[in-house]
Amino acid sequence: MRRQTRAVRIGHVTVGGESPIVVQSMTNTDTVDVVKTAVQCAELARAGSELVRITVNTPEAAAAVAKIREHLDTMGVEVPLIGDFHYNGHRLLADHPECAQALAKYRINPGNVGHGRKRDEQFAQMIEIACKFDKPVRIGVNWGSLDQTLLARIMDENAKRNEPKDAIEVMREAMVTSALESSAMAESLGLPADRIILSCKVSGVQDLIAIYRELSGRSDYPLHLGLTEAGMGSKGIVASTAAMSVLLQEGIGDTIRVSLTPEPGGKRTQEVVVAQEMLQTMGLRAFTPMVAACPGCGRTTSTFFQELAHSIQEHVRDNMPQWRIEYDGVENMTLAVMGCVVNGPGESKHANIGISLPGTGEAPVAPVFEDGAKTVTLRGNKIAEEFTAIVDRYVARKYQRKFAVKA
Ligand code: SF4
Repeated sequence: MRRQTRAVRIGHVTVGGESPIVVQSMTNTDTVDVVKTAVQCAELARAGSELVRITVNTPEAAAAVAKIREHLDTMGVEVPLIGDFHYNGHRLLADHPECAQALAKYRINPGNVGHGRKRDEQFAQMIEIACKFDKPVRIGVNWGSLDQTLLARIMDENAKRNEPKDAIEVMREAMVTSALESSAMAESLGLPADRIILSCKVSGVQDLIAIYRELSGRSDYPLHLGLTEAGMGSKGIVASTAAMSVLLQEGIGDTIRVSLTPEPGGKRTQEVVVAQEMLQTMGLRAFTPMVAACPGCGRTTSTFFQELAHSIQEHVRDNMPQWRIEYDGVENMTLAVMGCVVNGPGESKHANIGISLPGTGEAPVAPVFEDGAKTVTLRGNKIAEEFTAIVDRYVARKYQRKFAVKA
């Protein structure tokens, strides 16, 4: 059961309430480079990112935001843009009203809005601009930039306790307090509660779980979930999934971002794919047909089935933008590519469409199953092409949309 939260509108996307969990991502281009940033936003959106965040760190970057929005509109990409502000957001938003207008949400880090008396003034300025332009905000606490004055206060309070908490618990409490006090301040400045999303990001899995459990019990704002600085490759994917899946299973989290460091030359869109696969494998949302494939073993010495599993997954992913328009429910389709007769026919029968390739010593034939029944046996050296064509025909036959939808 999802935790009950308020619904927050971000452009045409709703986060929280009854809405499905929203996938979001962030660009890593220089925002000043309008074309490059717009292209990456479009790539992320086409990969399935429903919200895209961009860095707004300088006057030049702020001046570029409305142009990026225009480029996206020209490309027919409606994805709402979120501005990520630190230190000077109050000034940038005040000096660049076209930026304040073009963004669909502002991310405010309460640890990075200024020090001392200026902190409250500058925070208030950002909230006033959000009210003026009718925009939601995310109060995004990060343990790497936790408000040090607040942390010192919480530590003092802790020291006076009969049984003081340990340092980790104090840090967790300070993060939750920072988010809740900042949101209360935003509301007291006139920002409606249904314009506020909270996040408290840390890089430790157990810390993230503990903090979000606490946060979810003490507020009904929608929560943006993400493990910060998750890292690269399998480490980043595993850490993010380990942390977020525990919380998602408990109904905590209304929008997610997977903060992966791209491999050199790797695609930024990988973080979107991982976020979608996390939600889909948990049965929380369906985005793209999933391919089940066996890991392979000594029963099959050929890598052919691995290549087929990969090419089918890529084929499906590449075709999804068009399939989504033409076919109804195709994202729920399951496929199986299996390496031998041990589990091959059984697993293939459980999928919508599956193929059981020949293992070592088996007859060089590959039975294909559709909706649990064997429909054809492939043989020869064109198995991959023929199976791909069978998948395409199955999609066209099974998921044909009754009514056309707008692209
Ligand atoms: S299906 Fe066959 S090839 Fe694949 S892991 Fe199982 S025994 Fe090995």
